[in-house]
Amino acid sequence: MYDVLIVGYGPTGMLAAIMLGRAGHRVAVLERYKTLYNLPRVGIVHDDILRIFQEIGIAEKIHPATFFLPRYEMANKHRVLLSNDVQPMATHGWPEMTSIYQPAFEAELDALVRSLPSVDVVTGERVVALTQDAGKVEVTVEGDGGARRDVAGRYLIGSDGGNGFVRGALGIEYEDLGFVQDWLVIDAKAKRPPRPEIPLLRQFCEPEQPGMTMQMGPDHRRWSFMIFKGESAEEAMKPENVWRRLARPEGGTPDEFELVRVASYKFQSLLATNWRVGRAFLAGDSAHQMPPFLAQGLCSGFRDGYSIAWKLDLALQGKASPAFLDTYMAEREPNSRATTIESMRVGQNVNERDPEKVRQRDEQLMALQAAKDQAAPREKNLIAFRVPGFKQGFVAPGAPGAGDVFPQGRVSRNGREGRFDDVAGRGFMIVTRSGDAVAALSDQDVAFWDALGGRIVRIGEDIVDTEGVYTRLMDAYRCDVLVKRPDYYLFGACKNVDALPAMLAELRRQMG
Ligand SMILES: Cc1cc2nc3c(=O)[nH]c(=O)nc-3n(C[C@H](O)[C@H](O)[C@H](O)COP(=O)(O)OP(=O)(O)OC[C@H]3O[C@@H](n4cnc5c(N)ncnc54)[C@H](O)[C@@H]3O)c2cc1C
Repeated sequence: MYDVLIVGYGPTGMLAAIMLGRAGHRVAVLERYKTLYNLPRVGIVHDDILRIFQEIGIAEKIHPATFFLPRYEMANKHRVLLSNDVQPMATHGWPEMTSIYQPAFEAELDALVRSLPSVDVVTGERVVALTQDAGKVEVTVEGDGGARRDVAGRYLIGSDGGNGFVRGALGIEYEDLGFVQDWLVIDAKAKRPPRPEIPLLRQFCEPEQPGMTMQMGPDHRRWSFMIFKGESAEEAMKPENVWRRLARPEGGTPDEFELVRVASYKFQSLLATNWRVGRAFLAGDSAHQMPPFLAQGLCSGFRDGYSIAWKLDLALQGKASPAFLDTYMAEREPNSRATTIESMRVGQNVNERDPEKVRQRDEQLMALQAAKDQAAPREKNLIAFRVPGFKQGFVAPGAPGAGDVFPQGRVSRNGREGRFDDVAGRGFMIVTRSGDAVAALSDQDVAFWDALGGRIVRIGEDIVDTEGVYTRLMDAYRCDVLVKRPDYYLFGACKNVDALPAMLAELRRQMG
């Protein structure tokens, strides 16, 4: 009997296995393929994902496979309609987005999973049946030769992708938000340093051929192009037709690039109508599929994997009730929905082919650019979309900051300077800038907080807020106390330590 069964060893399943395995839980990962896929899909990850990589200790290891993209452009032919600077340092203490070569980070995730003694990775066996009762989930797995066996766990995470088994077995439908398009994806390895006129990251808002190009990690390049209605994907994927599409200034030639992979994808916008049935949960592409125009699909999967893992950890330790696990969908579904809708909106801007609408779009984007050029420097740098926090779920109702990101700035402690999480710690945390939090809490509250592994950190005493990130946040909330959840979000903020017991009582109530 495992604590958690994870179906699917894509990046979402890998991260969930790492988080649960590091917490000491017995985990079985069940994957139908014998080996890793080993080709890129993801090209970009956002700052919160690098914060996760920092937490699990692989951020430095994968650094050689990353590349900072300083600009995100939308252009119609050679006319740049909008050019956004990418922040080299964003809310979570990492660049706003980073280009990455997926096989490199997947190899690091895989090595980490396999180093965890409580995690079994079973490959080459497909999950073909699923049942559950009040105490466990049981799956049947089938190997290549057709031999079947059963595996049981107290909980199950279905991270088996868009065409997986678990969602259907749980009787969960997809809601279709209406985006469906076939695209050609071309990945290539550079044979020599790229020509300067090839943009690092550009959406081709061209009615004749919507598409995009980006540098992917230090040595690779991706192009994607819309496949037109009536055009055959097989024809589009033939090398001669690929090179024909790449015969453009931002394209490439066989002298410059070697094709690594050419594939066609159906870009869709699907959201599971339920993310939990009893002891089974959906995560990653099995719960949501979004067109990749914002590069948020896997990032959303990582957010799911991380979220369900810390919640299951608490439930498995008996520190949170099974009902607490409902906060998983309450938080992740609206977040994924907003991200999917924004991805569709950006996609629609890129894909517009109607001449009148194209003219209007160009005008709108150029007006946005003009407004941005005149904006104050602090506003100028943002690309438009920031992943929203939580309005519902495990948050203090009505409290300032409830469900907002707990940012990661640089701080120092005893002369050691670094990122907050590394220097001050992780997990549940009370961060104050005045008053004695321990004195304000009852012995029972302190014992409860200790049992959660919660920390209490006082700015100005325990740590120095080198960049003023936390002081500014408290000023904005007009509060002296922040209550942080085990992830990178706030349960809420309160005015001073006197209000802390009530906030902890609420937190305790919600954990059941
Ligand atoms: C062209 C393109 C570009 C993209 N770019 C980005 C980007 O830049 N940034 C970003 O964040 N996202 C991007 N995405 C999205 C991203 O690739 C996906 O969201 C991500 O791969 C999903 O990961 P996952 O682990 O949830 O699922 P998958 O990677 O699909 O893994 C699911 C696993 O489950 C296994 N499985 C399935 N059925 C069974 C079964 N019955 N039994 C056992 N195992 C099973 C599969 O073999 C697979 O290994 C892009 C997608 C595309 C198509």
